[in-house]
Amino acid sequence: MAETIHSLQRKLIDYAYAYYVKDQPVVDDAYYDQLYQQLVELETKYPEYRTPDSPTQRVGGVVLKGFEKVVHEIPLYSLNDVFSKNDIIAFDQRVQKTLGHPVTYICELKIDGLSISLKYEQGRFVRGATRGDGTIGENITENIKTVKSVPLVLKEPIDIEVRGECYMPKQAFFDLNQKREEDGLDIFANPRNAAAGSLRQLDSKVTASRNLSTFLYTLADFGPLHVRNQAEALDHLDDLGFRTNHERQTCTTIDEVWAYIEAFHEKRSQLPYEIDGVVIKVNEFTNQNQLGFTVKAPRWAVAYKFPPEEAQTTIEAIEWTVGRTGVVTPTAVMTPVRIAGTTVSRASLHNADYMKMKDIRLHDQVIIYKAGDIIPEVAHVVEEARVQTSLPYQIPTICPICGSELVHLDEEVALRCINPKCPAQIKEGLSHFVSRDAMNIEGIGPRMIEQFFNHGFVSDVADLYHLSLPQLLDLEKVKEKSATNMLQAIEASKQNSLEKLLFGLGIRHVGVKAAKLLAERFETLAALSKATQEEILTVDTLGPTIADSLVTYFANDEVHELMAELNTAGVNTTYLGLKKRDVEQIQSAFQGKTVVLTGKLVTYTREDAKEKIEQLGGKVTGSVSKKTDMVVAGSDAGSKLTKAQALGIPIWSEQEMIAAFETKDNK
Ligand code: NAD
Repeated sequence: MAETIHSLQRKLIDYAYAYYVKDQPVVDDAYYDQLYQQLVELETKYPEYRTPDSPTQRVGGVVLKGFEKVVHEIPLYSLNDVFSKNDIIAFDQRVQKTLGHPVTYICELKIDGLSISLKYEQGRFVRGATRGDGTIGENITENIKTVKSVPLVLKEPIDIEVRGECYMPKQAFFDLNQKREEDGLDIFANPRNAAAGSLRQLDSKVTASRNLSTFLYTLADFGPLHVRNQAEALDHLDDLGFRTNHERQTCTTIDEVWAYIEAFHEKRSQLPYEIDGVVIKVNEFTNQNQLGFTVKAPRWAVAYKFPPEEAQTTIEAIEWTVGRTGVVTPTAVMTPVRIAGTTVSRASLHNADYMKMKDIRLHDQVIIYKAGDIIPEVAHVVEEARVQTSLPYQIPTICPICGSELVHLDEEVALRCINPKCPAQIKEGLSHFVSRDAMNIEGIGPRMIEQFFNHGFVSDVADLYHLSLPQLLDLEKVKEKSATNMLQAIEASKQNSLEKLLFGLGIRHVGVKAAKLLAERFETLAALSKATQEEILTVDTLGPTIADSLVTYFANDEVHELMAELNTAGVNTTYLGLKKRDVEQIQSAFQGKTVVLTGKLVTYTREDAKEKIEQLGGKVTGSVSKKTDMVVAGSDAGSKLTKAQALGIPIWSEQEMIAAFETKDNK
């Protein structure tokens, strides 16, 4: 038995190292949790083999090298997991047995991010730290400052240490992985690892670019707040300016708790952030204090973990495709299977290293799941189901499209085709140029591009501006109306602001945000093309990778020929958006102002609009008076609008308010 327990401990320690230190788990959470529960059961039965360094006795997490250490005077704890309604009933019985009476619980969503601790002195943010092993964490103050939802100044000048979860919204996770794959980099397995990897960065510019957010849910010490229970504490955190999760609910029976769990199990995939369960906490602090803690977790709370949404299927084929930047990506084509509400038949295998690490082979049975509830991923191979004659998969050495030799650039995990004339890359580049975030040429998508290319009409983006009606009418299934529409859309795209063109050119590492920042700063393509690395680095949040990439791009003669062709074709190469000083003016529209929201808002909920305005330094009140500085009026606005008009108060539309928010976000 000692051997079995020891081997389980070792295995879990190795998995935890990959998860907490490298942010690259080698097994999925459900499998880890299953082994962990096995260990808990064995150690309960044979306590003599429970060692102090067993994963069941320690809060996971290790301090990374390069970070200053922070000692948590009041430790951060983990949570004990439960997996069924019966487990929750057993928890409730334990609670009642200790306290001698029933209690009220508060259910909160279990946000799948990483624990953080934020310290404020006199209401000013002074230090941010990770949980680490619960007692010693990493100092991530500078990185935390880049997370927009973290207030740097509170509404009251108090000394507190607030704790909660830092997470990456699903969309940001999806965009980040897509970009990393295009850039030939390793992808993150899930939003939690992506958040951890983004927050534990030595360069806070990287953190700033990752769109992290936070939900705070507790204090190290509630003393300064004069609150009696968790529900009041969360409301108070809201009042202080923190972002808390509003899906919480107090429950007086386990049936109510279970109904909450079931409701969020249903809604889980529609939430914009990932949750992996529900945390059930005893609400009253007097009760919590009486229950206390074990070495690792509070006795007054448990985390219900949702069952894994997984499915087993077979890999029928592995396809390799060439992207815009030459990255060659494998995709598993699988026997279609239903998972979390949709039928899945394809999953990216990301890169050759990933395939080798998971030892994925043709005809393997695999377990798949959805990362961030969206993207199908192969969790692991079912090795027992593998036939004896199965052989490791042979990674290709030549480009599946043009046949040139594939290479690994620098330290990249990706395989690349570096032939600039590779038709796959040219077509992908053209599709990127016409896409929505780039030149947004409606009616032209990858299939049309394929036809343009195969007919020899276009070989670079400037050729799009020389397409003619007879040429388009020559193509399959193109009628006069759609041909005219396409030409009009091409013509209209000439008026786009510089950032769209810049993004469309597909310069390595230059995404939508970087393109906007560069356009704002340099104003014309010609000016940017002459910028030095140092000048580019003066742009807030842009780092040496982008600067290098731009300088290399503009050092190329062919790029200057392309710029000249675009100029001749009449494509605008100037920034047409708001300048920084205009942005500041718009921002100051909210700063220190009292705002009233009225009528139906379409894009924002009242609550979200209020939160945004407050982040921009404004105050939102419920009624119009002489003290009101501005009114944002949605549709069907009634008496408040009339009163505001009578008092001569400036009225903004929802669109104007959004424009102000967006200029703030993109600044
Ligand atoms: P946990 O994530 O299971 O639960 C504790 C954490 O929940 C807290 O520290 C807090 O950060 C978080 N949390 C989120 N919302 C909360 C809320 N509303 N209130 C309170 N806490 C909230 O525990 P853990 O110790 O951080 O991590 C263990 C888990 O990590 C395992 O269950 C496993 O799923 C995963 N893990 C996976 C691997 C792997 O290889 N796949 C390895 C190690 C750990």
